[in-house]
Amino acid sequence: MDFALSPEQQMIYDYGGKVAQSFDHKYWLEKARKFEFPRELWQQTAEDGFAGLMVAEEYGGGGLGLLEMALLIEGMSNHGLPLLMYVVGPTMSLGHINQHGTPEQKSRYLPDAAAGKTIFCFAITEPNAGSNSMRIQSVAKAHGDRFKLNGSKVFITGVDVSDYAVVVARTTPHDQVSRKTDGFTVFIVDMKAKGVDFHAIDMSLVNPEQQFTLFFDDVDLGPDDVLGEVDKGFEILFDLLNPERVTIGAMACGIGRFAIEKAVAYTSERVVFNGPIGAYQGVQHPLAAAKTQVELSSLMLRQAAWQFDRGEEAGPAANMAKYAGAEAGIMAVEAALQAHGGNGFTHEYGLYDLYSMARLLRTAPINRELILNYIGEKVMGMPRSY
Ligand SMILES: Cc1cc2nc3c(=O)[nH]c(=O)nc-3n(C[C@H](O)[C@H](O)[C@H](O)COP(=O)(O)OP(=O)(O)OC[C@H]3O[C@@H](n4cnc5c(N)ncnc54)[C@H](O)[C@@H]3O)c2cc1C
Repeated sequence: MDFALSPEQQMIYDYGGKVAQSFDHKYWLEKARKFEFPRELWQQTAEDGFAGLMVAEEYGGGGLGLLEMALLIEGMSNHGLPLLMYVVGPTMSLGHINQHGTPEQKSRYLPDAAAGKTIFCFAITEPNAGSNSMRIQSVAKAHGDRFKLNGSKVFITGVDVSDYAVVVARTTPHDQVSRKTDGFTVFIVDMKAKGVDFHAIDMSLVNPEQQFTLFFDDVDLGPDDVLGEVDKGFEILFDLLNPERVTIGAMACGIGRFAIEKAVAYTSERVVFNGPIGAYQGVQHPLAAAKTQVELSSLMLRQAAWQFDRGEEAGPAANMAKYAGAEAGIMAVEAALQAHGGNGFTHEYGLYDLYSMARLLRTAPINRELILNYIGEKVMGMPRSY
């Protein structure tokens, strides 16, 4: 067994530190407080070859896997630069066009997206379905070989800066399918198409990418806009689940490490009784315990990504690592916040702002309870309640 990263993987993991020399956490925080997309940072990462990390080399990408994407996202988050857009775009959208797209779709979309010239968002969540994606109601009704898409999506990240959305819709009503996972189709929708509209949701999250309600009113789609097979969209979605869990877990671990490092620096300097407060075990232990949880989660995330890239069953490790990573991230930011005293709540230190981001990852894009349901039912074989 070899735990060492290759030199290339190490370089990808360390990239966050390099790019943070030009776009640091302060930059991220300023953008996050204004809900403003950090376009210069995005462009820089794309120019440095990371938007297309999971895109095949023949389409202008890096030809690498989920492990490298997780290392990139964790490494950037280690330096206070977590970007949800890297999960919904380069991982979930591009990774899957790369895997399931036709040669024409790949040539049409991937080179520009890998170069950072176009951006993708990913839309499945609906107001009336929430965590239960089987209940989505957006319908793409067939008219010959074309479709008319109608419906709405909610909490979609980065719609305003996206050129395309990868959208999941029903093409056959649920009462006409034999398996409940049949009848869904994945489409690539041009955000400039007639009938596409969106409104920003007033979120209290401190995060640079905004969330939107997305509306489709008779949006005309053709056969070239279908990703994979009509009615078989869930086969693509199943492939998306583990990358989503792994990259979100990686982001949470990075946020946790960043907060812990800030707390170590702060508590090593801050003196209120005898010597720095970091010497008191009451301050040290919560940080040490959180550090341990972060590193444990990070190890398991690498295992899950490695299994996914080898085509092995990655579900158990991906779910456990996402659960553990999200909890570790919260634990770390919470410990760091407490260690900063009143300063934790100031704009200057920005820790309370970071808490909202860490806390989000327990709930979205996949909530803690659904992850635990998976572990209980699929990994441990316990009975299912729904
Ligand atoms: C900041 C942010 C960004 C997002 N970005 C995207 C995006 O880009 N694209 C996209 O498609 N979606 C996105 N989402 C949506 C996200 O995936 C959903 O919020 C999430 O799937 C939960 O759905 P819901 O909010 O409707 O919660 P609900 O489904 O209403 O669940 C509410 C709570 O009930 C509990 N619960 C639900 N079901 C169960 C169960 N079976 N067992 C036990 N407990 C349960 C959980 O605690 C859950 O948190 C985003 C959300 C946020 C907040």
